[in-house]
Amino acid sequence: MTSTGPVSDNLASFSDVNQAIALLKFYLDSGADAAVEDAPRSRFGVAGVTTDPAPAKQTTAPISPATQIGPATQAPARSAPPRAILTSPAAMLAAGDLALAESARVAAAGANSLAELQDILRRFEGVEALRARATNMVFADGNPEASVMLVGEAPGADEDRLGKPFVGVSGQLLDRMLASIGLDRTSFYITNVCFWRPPGNRKPTEAELVAQAPFVQRHIELIKPKVLVLVGAASAHALLGTNDGITRLRGRWFEYQSPGLPSPVPTLPIFHPAYLLRQPAQKRETWADLLKLKSRIAESLS
Ligand code: URA
Repeated sequence: MTSTGPVSDNLASFSDVNQAIALLKFYLDSGADAAVEDAPRSRFGVAGVTTDPAPAKQTTAPISPATQIGPATQAPARSAPPRAILTSPAAMLAAGDLALAESARVAAAGANSLAELQDILRRFEGVEALRARATNMVFADGNPEASVMLVGEAPGADEDRLGKPFVGVSGQLLDRMLASIGLDRTSFYITNVCFWRPPGNRKPTEAELVAQAPFVQRHIELIKPKVLVLVGAASAHALLGTNDGITRLRGRWFEYQSPGLPSPVPTLPIFHPAYLLRQPAQKRETWADLLKLKSRIAESLS
């Protein structure tokens, strides 16, 4: 048994009983089956369920965009330094891919608003293999004024059809996960590292990620989030510039830096909800990560 903390605080915000039931179900799936104390306490010994004693600056790894989106320049004390996409031998890109990334960088840099970025991206011809087969470009959803920004992988069939990120089954789980810490699409902003659905739901290729990365970087600069959440391995790979697996990265704080941001943004990789649908036992770790996120948001707003 574990405590959810002030469950009533979170539930109070739901006018819709079905949404409240969904939230309770997520608590149960995460192992939280009773509200016994005011503050959450880990009974599984999962790191981070209780308040993280180390202050942000000491536990984060600065990262900064390079050619596309930045490699980590320094690792957290307890881990090996993440490797950059472009320096990884497994990710040697053709000169043409790099030239494309450079033209994307120049194009993205010209966007001074979200509308301009969306417009430039819509006309971007660098990822025709995706664009030509997609029904819609999937740009973003949620509140652009929110202090929390989430970045996922790529649209699936539902997102492609509706033109919005995370509206399918895994998006619904993500909404429930975030609802469990009191967030909804009025209090976060959400996008992907890939703006068009890869055919057959394949993973975006390295070249596709590199070509779109300057747009993702500019997107983050324009939103200026106080906290960034990287949803899943592809997002962590693209934005942290590391090939480390998500199991290793999740629940650790990094700092995302970019010349267009006033200061580094605390950045938390988490498991992708599609993975949690396949591996429900991992929800326990995600619950710990969500509590970390909740307390960091509270810190950033205080
Ligand atoms: N998975 C993602 O990573 N993004 C979406 O928009 C939908 C599913």
